Amino acid sequence: MTLVTLSDVLQPALRQGHAVAGLVTLGWEDMRAFVAAAEAEDCPVILQAGPSCRAHTPLPVLGAMFRHLAQNASVPVVAHLDHGYTAEECRQAIDCGFTSVMYDGSRKPLEENIAETRRIVEMAHAAGISCEGEIGFVGYSGGDGSSGTDPAEAARFARETGVDAMAISVGNVHLQQDHEGGLDEDRIRAIEAVTDLPLVIHGGSGVPIAQRRALAQGSSICKFNIGTELRMAFGRSLREAIDRDPARFDRVQILSETHEPMVAAARSILRAFKGA
Ligand SMILES: [Zn+2]
Repeated sequence: MTLVTLSDVLQPALRQGHAVAGLVTLGWEDMRAFVAAAEAEDCPVILQAGPSCRAHTPLPVLGAMFRHLAQNASVPVVAHLDHGYTAEECRQAIDCGFTSVMYDGSRKPLEENIAETRRIVEMAHAAGISCEGEIGFVGYSGGDGSSGTDPAEAARFARETGVDAMAISVGNVHLQQDHEGGLDEDRIRAIEAVTDLPLVIHGGSGVPIAQRRALAQGSSICKFNIGTELRMAFGRSLREAIDRDPARFDRVQILSETHEPMVAAARSILRAFKGA
């Protein structure tokens, strides 16, 4: 059994100078490949079920899949709810065996975000699991713009909510398809000066690889969420598998050919987060 909480993997990462990848899953094929990649790299991995994953597959099914993979893995695996928007959603994830929930109150006014996040933290801790919160707002490529994290607000959010990890907005943007969106390191330094918490970067796909590596080793950023980059790799490998033989119709046969490319894509991401 290697199912662990978010704190179980982020606290060692903070102390030892590395980061852990929060890999966005959409189904069995990619989550299985991500665990195989983590085993090959001999590092922990966070499997994340975000809103679009949950719209496709019910949470109890996702929880069972994550737990099954974790129980058979040789490395620590976190079953994480990404962007829970309500207490009910977080409660359901806890009931389904998730070991970490992210409550996203970042669209709400500060006071409300703090109060609601604190309630979710209490619920998560009572169940023996971890909670991630977000302060500032991480925008979406082609959608809502970001609102950078204010260090003073981050200090207060950390102190008053009791979260185990804090997602921050420092130039990161969700859904970016290239690696050109570098992070604001001055703002990161200002935030890590006022809190001991492990910090989280959503929209990690847009961060240049060299900066991911440098920050993993030399900052309090301990978790990078990576989604778009892996969805692009999956789309490419699926398209190639289909095109390889237009007469083929069996889904398992076609999907099996996405496995190796997804393991390779995930391995190269995981390698950048390892310590020196
Ligand atoms: Zn996110």
